Amino acid sequence: MWHSELVRRYGGRCQTRGLAHRATSPEYLTVLTDRPPRTKALLTKFVASDQLTRLELPGDDRLRLTARAIEEAMTDGTRTTVQRACADFLSAAAEFYGLPKPDVRALASRPLRVREGGWATELFGDYTPSTGVIRIWTRTAVRKQVTSFGTFLSTLTHEFCHHLDCQRLGFRQSPHTRGFYQRAAVLYHHARGTEMKPLVWLRMPGGRWRIDWRRMRTAPPVQNIRYTALDLQR
Ligand SMILES: [Zn+2]
Repeated sequence: MWHSELVRRYGGRCQTRGLAHRATSPEYLTVLTDRPPRTKALLTKFVASDQLTRLELPGDDRLRLTARAIEEAMTDGTRTTVQRACADFLSAAAEFYGLPKPDVRALASRPLRVREGGWATELFGDYTPSTGVIRIWTRTAVRKQVTSFGTFLSTLTHEFCHHLDCQRLGFRQSPHTRGFYQRAAVLYHHARGTEMKPLVWLRMPGGRWRIDWRRMRTAPPVQNIRYTALDLQR
């Protein structure tokens, strides 16, 4: 089984990391929220992000078509064509949400960091708020295989949601809250044209939450994800 952790910001950047196993499906990512901040001002923003589970989506196919072009470029294109397709997707998304377009760099094999105990993490993508640059890796660290399209698109939409947080929603720290993951999931499923299931959360120590994939698999899909307002578990 493939585990991964989506890890938080280091030095002001969001980094999406996973354990160094072959990515078979984004479904197996371990999604964990950040620890709530201690200062009152940051906590107010954190709670607002946590509660914002709605994300408006285009009523047309602009994101689906540009996402499909990324998938095609990943199948038989070069890294340059993948990067161009990502830029087109991000332009379409930025235009819809009224944001400046983020820059994107599609890089080769993911950096691997071996940690104590012998396990390793690899970087999937990151976003730097000060420059608005998204970096995304197209190959797995160990086997140098092309990243699965689902994992790739899920990383790209995740990083774009940080851009949306910083540029539009007023969440300058862009914390990984339940609301953040919900918005990222809404965007991912819309762009991929797949069914979205309500996110089911398990309470963890320290005020954090983790997605319970097992319970989610048995839940019915959300019928209309265009304006999703799902109740979060308290
Ligand atoms: Zn992130």
